[in-house]
Amino acid sequence: AERNQAAHVVLLPSPGVGHLIPFVELAKRLVIHHNLTATIITFSDFSTSKAQRSILSSLPFGVSYVSLPSVPIDDLLTEGNNASFRLSLIMPHYVPSIRHLLLNLHKTTPIAAYVIDLFGGDIVSIANDLCIPKYLFFTSNFFFLAFQHHSITLSGISEKLELPGCFPLGRDTLSLYLGEETSSLNAKLARTQEVVDGILVNSFETLEEGYSQLAKDRKIPVWLVGPLTRVGSGSDFKKDAIFTWLDQQPIGSVLFVSFGSGGTLSFEQTQELALGLEMSKQRFLWVLHPPFDADGKLVTTWVSQTHVLTHGAIGGFLSHCGWNSTLESIVCGVPMIAWPLYAEQPINAEMLVKGVKVALRPIVGEDGVMRKEAVANVVKELMEGEGGKEVRNRIRVMMKEAAKAMEQEGPSSKSLANIANLWKMTKLD
Ligand code: UDP
Repeated sequence: AERNQAAHVVLLPSPGVGHLIPFVELAKRLVIHHNLTATIITFSDFSTSKAQRSILSSLPFGVSYVSLPSVPIDDLLTEGNNASFRLSLIMPHYVPSIRHLLLNLHKTTPIAAYVIDLFGGDIVSIANDLCIPKYLFFTSNFFFLAFQHHSITLSGISEKLELPGCFPLGRDTLSLYLGEETSSLNAKLARTQEVVDGILVNSFETLEEGYSQLAKDRKIPVWLVGPLTRVGSGSDFKKDAIFTWLDQQPIGSVLFVSFGSGGTLSFEQTQELALGLEMSKQRFLWVLHPPFDADGKLVTTWVSQTHVLTHGAIGGFLSHCGWNSTLESIVCGVPMIAWPLYAEQPINAEMLVKGVKVALRPIVGEDGVMRKEAVANVVKELMEGEGGKEVRNRIRVMMKEAAKAMEQEGPSSKSLANIANLWKMTKLD
């Protein structure tokens, strides 16, 4: 059909700020650099946070969002103790309302591509019925994509896993993914990779040693299009007391401590971390969930992490290794202490410590708790020790590589340009 409108892309990130942020960045690039229009579908049941409202209120012209009506899912919100598992139960309940919405969108502005994330497997059938090409935007790294894929293509995972071109995953990390619930969830999520027309990954080639070998064997094209982060965006940012305090600290002297949008520690672990930070005698800025007394500057809810990481006073990041946080740390050249909690974070941590070598790791006690001495040691090592110097040098190399990937002629930008061109050519009837 004759195209007199910009190609229209519909994006459906599953609930959670960590999913929304990279989707918004993807949509912005498509619109600003490639003249597409984008509609982001959000969930009114999960749209209550201030952070989410602020992200959605600063969308550029050409990116709009539309909220799915509420559905009765309250029972599911308390199901099990695994956030990824819960999401996989929740998503199918939105199928009817997504179908309705897509039909309406398609009628008004025909959809050239439909982009889901790894929890979107249940909703591809809707796009199939409308003959709309569908793509997976994998908001984690390529290594984890390959790991998930591996979990269905080969029968089970053994003691050690060494994917071609990649660092080996040891037993400690693997064992976290061998339980019945986690492995069947991974297998289910991995099937999303098989039912789409292409996969976009928020990562870049120099970070993913296994990419060149592993991606060429795939039937479905896999493109690395990152790092897509909020670093440098968010013009509505206002300096508050935290930044006044940071301004007064010496360059590279402050450790930033944060476990992402939802990460929490046990009371005991929170206490050990507080004592360890104090013992380390380093300056720190800690985003604490839930509030707790400790000696230092505490932020109780949400801080604009990308603005903290770009501040010159920050010299290290103790992180849960969520993929957005990881990319932000790389883009800002801040070396890390890896403290993974759940989902694919333990795998990300292995990649950062053993593969990319941009993070240090505290020694865990036999009871699984990180004791104050271990915390103090790793913090001192990162901020003042030889190990810290090594990971700092490495992350500066990766920071340059990340910037190169996103230059106009960089590999990630070129891949995204190719995808945008493909979508512009989608035949619409
Ligand atoms: N974030 C932030 N302030 C906070 C907590 C999180 O700005 O206090 C942002 C952070 O910069 C990142 C995202 O929220 O972009 C969290 O995503 P990530 O993948 O790191 O972890 P998740 O929250 O999904 O576990």
